[in-house]
Amino acid sequence: MAAGTDYEAVIGLEVHAQLLTDSKMFCACSARYAGAEPNTVVCPICLGMPGVLPVINSKAVDYTILTALALNCEIPEYSKFDRKNYNYPDLMKGYQISQYDLPLSRNGWLEIPDPQDATQTRRIGITRVHLEEDTANLKHVRSETGETYSLMDVNRSGVPLMEIVGEPDIRSSEEAGAYLRQLRAILRYIGVSTANMEEGAFRCDANVSIRPRGQQAYGAKVEVKNMNSFRAVVRALEYEIHRQREVLDSGGRIVQETRGWVEERGVTVSQRSKEEAHDYRYFPEPDLPPLFLSRDWVEDIRSRLPELPEPKRRRFMREYGLSADDASTLTATRALADYFVETIRQGAGARAAANWILRDVLRLLNASGTEVEESRLTPTHLADLIKLVDSGQLSVRSAPEVLEAVFNTGKPPQAVVKEKGLAQVSDVAELKTVVERVLAAPQNQKAIADYRAGKQTALGFLVGAVMKETRGKANPGMVNGLLRQKLDG
Ligand code: ADP
Ligand code: ZN
Ligand code: MG
Repeated sequence: MAAGTDYEAVIGLEVHAQLLTDSKMFCACSARYAGAEPNTVVCPICLGMPGVLPVINSKAVDYTILTALALNCEIPEYSKFDRKNYNYPDLMKGYQISQYDLPLSRNGWLEIPDPQDATQTRRIGITRVHLEEDTANLKHVRSETGETYSLMDVNRSGVPLMEIVGEPDIRSSEEAGAYLRQLRAILRYIGVSTANMEEGAFRCDANVSIRPRGQQAYGAKVEVKNMNSFRAVVRALEYEIHRQREVLDSGGRIVQETRGWVEERGVTVSQRSKEEAHDYRYFPEPDLPPLFLSRDWVEDIRSRLPELPEPKRRRFMREYGLSADDASTLTATRALADYFVETIRQGAGARAAANWILRDVLRLLNASGTEVEESRLTPTHLADLIKLVDSGQLSVRSAPEVLEAVFNTGKPPQAVVKEKGLAQVSDVAELKTVVERVLAAPQNQKAIADYRAGKQTALGFLVGAVMKETRGKANPGMVNGLLRQKLDG
């Protein structure tokens, strides 16, 4: 290709997500191995001893179908497990039980906000969602004397692992980030995975190629592995798109290969040329029965689907008049969306509820590392606080202080207002006295003269002076009226 050709990126992501089942995929060991001593959550089955028989975890099948339905996939009537054979020390049996030609689902899609226009969405195809088992964990060590060796922890072996294969429909690293965020939000909404990338419960391999803009045929793809955060995926893709462009511009060819992301250096390095499916000698797992997925079961699972993040985001925009960004934030987790809706149900206006949550509540949650569902400031408290402000019993100025106290103590806002003496002064006689005092003060005479000379902004200064006298507790609307009465009369 000539230097300066305009290229388009083509990206398809493969995501592995660990399922939140109680037990492992084919044995009775606990699937919650985090924090356990290495090699203690194991049994002959997940250790891959000869002669043992696997048993299918039906909850894992259920969760995979639930995910597939959330991703708009078709669920076939028959599915089966296959052996994927390869040799690597983390694979206890020498084969992984996975799914090859009859996966649990196919042909779905997921919607991401359109990067050109946040009010629109773009569909990214989902090729398939299938179920397999996780492998053991290898830790590569270099000792002080320079020897290198690997430590193995089998606890992870046999944990149910769902693979979500995406179509090559993504066109930029930003879209890849949006896809991952959306997928993670969906898995969390339906409760099938923690989808936590740092803990290894959500892992992404990124396939990327480039082609001259306008060309239909795909270019040769590179599979990038080893990214440990969403940011790393985005950076690795940017690096790789740039690298491929330079290779083509300088007259070279892209070879299909697997490359590893090296976080510290911010580069991808060649690992191996890509294996073909026939290298794995896939064949049906003889120790497991094929699965018949009755329509009743599938429909029963479908009926458990909650409203998903993207439809919820659009509904929030429509019903509550929120901006695309505010609606995104408020639907980022199901718990936060529920919190918002409950605040409204308790009598707060939607706009006020959104403002308080987006500004103050999220800041307090973040600063204290609290999850919204654990917050001592309940939706009822927040609604009560908003009602106090609306009815003039609490000033907008004092409200954040009350909110923070409720957040810290869990006491109702009414009680905090009383305790701190923050009730807004709306008593006319009381306010009149303060207004008179302010108007008599020598330092305010210039502002009074300015106002009488037609300078409207001078009134703001005087309102401020009254607010200061009352330590922010005066009802600003009433103060305004009283001042005008005195000065205009
Ligand atoms: P493989 O045979 O290497 O497993 P697949 O066709 O099964 O390749 O696709 C694996 C992943 O690679 C999918 O997520 C798919 O979207 C993506 N992919 C396939 N072809 C390309 C391409 N030319 N450029 C970028 N990604 C691609
Ligand atoms: Zn086991
Ligand atoms: Mg493939």
